[in-house]
Amino acid sequence: MANLLSGLEKFGLGNFEDEKIFEDEKKAEAISKGTAVKETAEEDLLFDKTYQCPVCDKEFKSKTVRTGKAKLLGTDIDLRAKYQGIDPLKYDIVSCPKCGYTTVTRYFNLITSPQASLIREKISRNYKASVNNESTISYEAAIESHKLALVNAIVKKCRVSEKAYICLKIAWLIRGQREDLDETANDYKDLVTKSETEELEFIKNAYEGFSAAVAKEEFPMCGMDESTMDYLLAALACQCKQYDMASRLVSNVITSRVAKNNLKEKARELKTVILQERKDN
Ligand SMILES: [Zn+2]
Repeated sequence: MANLLSGLEKFGLGNFEDEKIFEDEKKAEAISKGTAVKETAEEDLLFDKTYQCPVCDKEFKSKTVRTGKAKLLGTDIDLRAKYQGIDPLKYDIVSCPKCGYTTVTRYFNLITSPQASLIREKISRNYKASVNNESTISYEAAIESHKLALVNAIVKKCRVSEKAYICLKIAWLIRGQREDLDETANDYKDLVTKSETEELEFIKNAYEGFSAAVAKEEFPMCGMDESTMDYLLAALACQCKQYDMASRLVSNVITSRVAKNNLKEKARELKTVILQERKDN
């Protein structure tokens, strides 16, 4: 190809002359999405927050996303929020390196003394901390800590909504990890299939858990009011191919007198997705 970009020296831009106009699309896309420069950007959005463990009293630091620093790009149909250059979900967990007590951030200090005894007895006794000196947390490590949080939740016999919430977060992390996969890798398709199967398992658990929770717990639940929970359950039911339930729940939101307008707007979008999915399946 002739050098289409020649003549730029006068602008001081001579070194662009060998640049391809249509460079590797994948690379360009990665750069525009912010994934290629993620390493530095992600670190800059973090700080070490100090916690005191309510189970063993140890003081430790945990990586936390600076509030208001990450830019929201949008949300998935099931309310998973996506941000530029970072996935804050990976950091929404606190794990004591001494005793293994681990929860989603919002629940860390909400533990009763009988629950703390259960953690000491069933988790701390065998717990071996895995050392992480990285400046950021990988999806793999985040999924592991969330699974540890799920084990903690089971051991301390917490509310079903808390367990459902952790399952939902694990599903979202698996999705985030899948979006990060290298599309040019030989085993890309296999990895995607495996990841989708694993995500669906956690979605099913979240759906089952939240369905049970709404029957016996009070709102707000995991920070969500009743309309938001109806919406979320509709989205999860749709992913589990429970279309009748999904349609019923989404109609509740659309016709609700208390649901906010932006939630109703999302519910109308979800209704279209449910109708389409039902037709396709
Ligand atoms: Zn501890």
